[in-house]
Amino acid sequence: MRRRLFKNLVTAPSTEPVSEEEPAVLDAAGAALRGAIARRLGRSLAIREVDSGSCNGCELEIHALNNAYYDVERFGLRFVASPRHADVLMVTGPVTKNMREALERTYHAVPNPKWVVAIGDCGRDGGCFAGSYAVVGGVAEVIPVDLHIPGCPPTPMAMLQGLLALLERADGRAVIS
Ligand code: SF4
Repeated sequence: MRRRLFKNLVTAPSTEPVSEEEPAVLDAAGAALRGAIARRLGRSLAIREVDSGSCNGCELEIHALNNAYYDVERFGLRFVASPRHADVLMVTGPVTKNMREALERTYHAVPNPKWVVAIGDCGRDGGCFAGSYAVVGGVAEVIPVDLHIPGCPPTPMAMLQGLLALLERADGRAVIS
């Protein structure tokens, strides 16, 4: 333990450097998102996140959206504590049998009109947990899904681009599958 503490004190953090292009890509996606939110909703897009059985890898990437680098509140996106305040229900993980009812109740608590976004390969079809005795399946097995963002886990940028595509489709400006 002492050795590990000492090692952590003398070694640099193992973060990866950001590519030179990424800040510009992020700013462009953010500006497009802010415009789409203003056209569609007026001010902001409120997201309620539900973990229906994930390994928490997807949550780490979702948390990154609020860190100092992505800082998505500046684009008009915010995570809310209550489904009654949400426009988007964002769901991670396969839906476990234990979480099925909670997910259904949360879905019904989000006011209409609403969008459901399934995050990650597990959200699509159960991913690496598919076939488990504890798993119902992907999110679409339980509630209607408007957008699936693939990846294990998807990056924060992929989530921003997915949300942008969702809003632009709602705007009649783009088509996503
Ligand atoms: S998609 Fe990958 S990171 Fe996300 S919950 Fe499933 S296993 Fe974990």
